[in-house]
Amino acid sequence: MKTSLIALTMLAATGLLPFGPAVADTLIDNANGVQVDQSGKLQRFSGLVIGDDGKVRQLLVKGQERPAATVRIDAGGKTLLPGLIDAHGHVMGLGFAALQLDLTGTTSLADLQGRLQAYATANSGSGWIQGRGWNQESWADKRFPIAADLDAVVSDRPVWLGRVDGHAAIANSAAMKSAGISAATESPAGGRIENGLFVDAAMALVEGKIPRPTPAMFDAALAKAQQLMLSTGLTAAADMGTSAEDWAAMNRAGRAGTLRARILSYAGGIPAMKAINGGKPSGWLYADRLHLGGVKLYADGALGSRGAWLKAPYHDKPDTRGLRFLTDAELGAQAEEAASGGYQLAIHAIGDAANAQVIGAFEGLNRRHKGNRRWRIEHLQIADPADLRRLKPAGIIASMQPTHQTSDRTMAEARLDPPRLKGAYAWRTIERMGVRLAFGSDFPVESPNPFPGLAAAVSRQDPSGQPPGGWRLEERVSFATALNGFTRGAAYAGFAEGKIGSLEPGKWADFILVDRDVARVNPQALAATRVLETWVAGKKVYASANALPAR
Ligand SMILES: [Zn+2]
Repeated sequence: MKTSLIALTMLAATGLLPFGPAVADTLIDNANGVQVDQSGKLQRFSGLVIGDDGKVRQLLVKGQERPAATVRIDAGGKTLLPGLIDAHGHVMGLGFAALQLDLTGTTSLADLQGRLQAYATANSGSGWIQGRGWNQESWADKRFPIAADLDAVVSDRPVWLGRVDGHAAIANSAAMKSAGISAATESPAGGRIENGLFVDAAMALVEGKIPRPTPAMFDAALAKAQQLMLSTGLTAAADMGTSAEDWAAMNRAGRAGTLRARILSYAGGIPAMKAINGGKPSGWLYADRLHLGGVKLYADGALGSRGAWLKAPYHDKPDTRGLRFLTDAELGAQAEEAASGGYQLAIHAIGDAANAQVIGAFEGLNRRHKGNRRWRIEHLQIADPADLRRLKPAGIIASMQPTHQTSDRTMAEARLDPPRLKGAYAWRTIERMGVRLAFGSDFPVESPNPFPGLAAAVSRQDPSGQPPGGWRLEERVSFATALNGFTRGAAYAGFAEGKIGSLEPGKWADFILVDRDVARVNPQALAATRVLETWVAGKKVYASANALPAR
């Protein structure tokens, strides 16, 4: 069938098509189609007709007559889903992280040196080599590496390798020289320098001297991020905190035709908002591949580092309530500036005090800005149940990341006493209140792979099935709700529901084929789902080695 598609394309190009343009329609047939309908229920279908404009023409159920004059592709009974959408990720961060030298799981210093050597050979040049993930605790001698260990492998260009926890890094001599560090350099307060090992506050001495990535590096990172997204079934993602440089890279890709995934961009703060696109939302660009419509702000930090701003002290550190980033007046002023510029707002709030503050800010905006503004709270991890009741009346969308719950579970139990866990990662409670959920991963903080996210959402368990029975199981959601969060809900949260998020006539034919019936398998199997093919705008943009047999 592939050949006939190519043949038809060639005929079309030469103007020799024997029929009208409708002949270029493609029918994906014999599929186990699953999506969420407008009412939030699972809908099954077996055929998808795609026009030559890359949009859905028709959805077909079993037994329904197939249109004539289409190129038929047999999906072999494989499960077909709308392209998944990550409602909260960091596109360039994902790409840059993936381009670095990965040192997780190194078993010895020699192993680290071997990987460094291979990376330096594969990435020739004179620029900095950056890596991360080593952990000397898992090496036999547990000795911290020193600069000379790296010099033995790479001495002609700077090398900077972070420890797995991000609290230490090792530099080679070239890196220290570039950063102006000598034996005479004293350790700063809150940090330590030892033979090229930089701990905590000392790390900034080197990190501040690493040159900004070049535009070519941004382009490479964007290409890598898209590859990772498409191979895990994501056809679109909200980019939460786009910088002016990120935006430039995305537009270069758009103009070059290499923007394959769709990016819903949120400027990273008010200065970025002003620096991007002349301080105006961009509208949809490059056949709906890129859209800047919002601004991302922060109300607090994260729970792990006790930066989440709480109403009461931390259970495991009673002298702190975390970090309040902005006063109510400051947050209100920034939100007002973005809102009056026509932007959507997406505000990071993790602790219950931060969530209360952000809800208050949105309630304030609602007094001045009418219409469907779709204010978003990002993460909404710990909330006072009394505040959750304010979400729906204020028209706030809950943008949440199911895999944060499974990753954070034991840490959250340490940070918070049981009463406060009532409003923690409270997906089902929020759904019951009639609040719209949008799901994502916060990649690269978590893997971009949405399937462990879907599994966490329905089970409150990690991919290995922990904890048995699920953590606070009453907050799990149905599979339909989980899928909705990664499709229609994420699209709605980005003002994109008219274009993506479901396979319906007039919307883009963004879809994936996967190796199992995700609506019927158990959570562990759901988490392990493999993507066979990914299609964007009716074109195949990714095929795994296990893709459908040649047709
Ligand atoms: Zn984030």
